[in-house]
Amino acid sequence: MTQTDTTTAPETRSFEADVARLLHLMVHAVYSDRDVFLRELIANAADACEKLRYESLADAALSNGETPRITIALDPEAKTLTVSDNGIGMTEADMIEALGTIARSGTRAFMENLTAAKDSEKANLIGQFGIGFYAAFMVADTVDVYSRRAGTDLAHRWTSDGLGTYTIEPAALDDAPAPGTRIVLQLKDDAVQYTERHTVERIVRAQSGHVPVPITLIDKPDGETSEVTDGSALWARPKSEITPEDYTDFYRSLAGQFDAPALTLHYRAEGKHEYNVLAFVPESRPFDLFDPDRKGRMKLYVRRVFITDEAELLPRYLRFVRGLVDSADLPLNMSREMIQDSPLLAAIQKGVTNRILSELDKLAANDADKYAAFWDAFGAVLKEGIYEDFGRRETLLGLARFRGTGPEGWRSLKDYVASMRDNQTAIYFATGTDAARLAASPQIEGFRARGIEVLLLTDPVDSFWAASGVDYEGKPFKSVTQGQADLSLIEPLEGEATSEPAAPEAEAFIGFVKTQLGDAVSDVRASERLTTSAACLVASEHGIDRQLERLLSANGQTPQGAKPVLELNPRHDLVARLSALPDDAALKADGALLLFDEARIADGELPDDTRAFADRLSRVLTQALA
Ligand code: ADP
Ligand code: MG
Repeated sequence: MTQTDTTTAPETRSFEADVARLLHLMVHAVYSDRDVFLRELIANAADACEKLRYESLADAALSNGETPRITIALDPEAKTLTVSDNGIGMTEADMIEALGTIARSGTRAFMENLTAAKDSEKANLIGQFGIGFYAAFMVADTVDVYSRRAGTDLAHRWTSDGLGTYTIEPAALDDAPAPGTRIVLQLKDDAVQYTERHTVERIVRAQSGHVPVPITLIDKPDGETSEVTDGSALWARPKSEITPEDYTDFYRSLAGQFDAPALTLHYRAEGKHEYNVLAFVPESRPFDLFDPDRKGRMKLYVRRVFITDEAELLPRYLRFVRGLVDSADLPLNMSREMIQDSPLLAAIQKGVTNRILSELDKLAANDADKYAAFWDAFGAVLKEGIYEDFGRRETLLGLARFRGTGPEGWRSLKDYVASMRDNQTAIYFATGTDAARLAASPQIEGFRARGIEVLLLTDPVDSFWAASGVDYEGKPFKSVTQGQADLSLIEPLEGEATSEPAAPEAEAFIGFVKTQLGDAVSDVRASERLTTSAACLVASEHGIDRQLERLLSANGQTPQGAKPVLELNPRHDLVARLSALPDDAALKADGALLLFDEARIADGELPDDTRAFADRLSRVLTQALA
């Protein structure tokens, strides 16, 4: 083989700012569980082997004819640990992109959380989430990456001490003879235990025992070679041979998360299509769950060959599920695009989705506490399905849990419907950002007075599905802040104020307020939903719900013609007294405008004209004290 062209001088570059910050953290981490660096390097090596396997299906020339293998070589004297693989390798450009920038959305989200976290929490965050290649700098003073991309004759050496810059230079092919990657860690003085055979063996077994590529360990230069794991795929083994710990280890190495699976699903679909499924619902939320770019995290294998983790094997609202599908039927040499469009994939998607939802349903029935924990973590995502997946709407509504003004704790719609009042025909809800404030909002007074439970919806997604014309068992969802409340057919609970007579002049006063407010509102009317408050705002019958309107305008969209309706409580003392004043009394006009501003403030909004509001309030108070 010829020597690579070495006339190109070494080139030193700076890390992207975020990488530099992350590295600073790695280098200075006082972190007890540094073992994770090895899992990260092994995971990358296994990914590289799988990528090569996949790419050589299309281009046989890429294959080196070798079986995929990861080798860990220790050198106690030189204090080095080397991880090599015969996978796809990297070009110079790959190295700059992959090892000098933060390309992964997960890492970016991790960084954002890290920046926001207190110092005392930082180490914990590192432990909880995989941070990839850079983890090497927790244990190494310098890291050298030698790599040669399959199908090329060029090798490069990337080297860095993790302190702000890295250098890339051509490497002699002798240093990187076969396509693949070799990563050499010059260990820190306090990390020399990673040159001890039994330590490394233990860590590899514990963290990476199920990676689908065999791992070999060499304990010193020219030392003994042993196979630590054989690369057999866990999912292809009989369930009876697999322990819960096996599943947990596998989940951790797959997900790069340190929690345990809340739900493990392992089965073989037989019949028309054959495939193995191994899927996990995590215990805790990954950082990037709400990153709009976040894709699903299910891997597709065909007869144990990794194909892609970009096939949409599950609908978006199940994007928290980790795992894989191994199909016996898909042809190996299909392009990713063809896979995505294949009817077989659609069949798999349908089968796996239904199965996951039915397992969740079982969990809900058998272990309410565990299900509640699941719902706390992922409910907000699952609810996206209520408007995205029309065909499974009923199922998803059945899985959904809510907080309401009724009994404490999570409530299902079944619970809700069972406690509906006589003549109640709708499922009532209020949307907002804060359950306590919603529970205290004037709009629900009349519902409470009648013993009608109101669901308090506080996830942003709620405003969307709840406004999409959903019903459950024939009962439509109805916002308490929209349209007429129409509660007249439902008996108030004993001792509630709703039955007191309205002030006789209230009707004329409503007309007066309407004139005062002009086109700031679309209507002013007497309210059925107020008991103790004097006024509240609601959306008009066909208008857009007020919380949704707030969300949209926060996103820069201003819905047209969305003027609210002001409802006044004709039984309220203040309304009665204002009604009794002559129309030309200054206090009456001030009172009318203050009622409107008061209603806005109760919704957590500011009056339109804060200065005018303050002046008006001072005037009224001065008069009251005169
Ligand atoms: P991730 O594995 O989640 O992408 P990492 O920080 O672990 O993030 O790795 C960054 C990238 O570096 C990988 O996506 C890959 O492109 C590249 N890389 C790292 N190790 C190897 C390797 N052994 N062989 C080929 N590419 C690698
Ligand atoms: Mg990685």
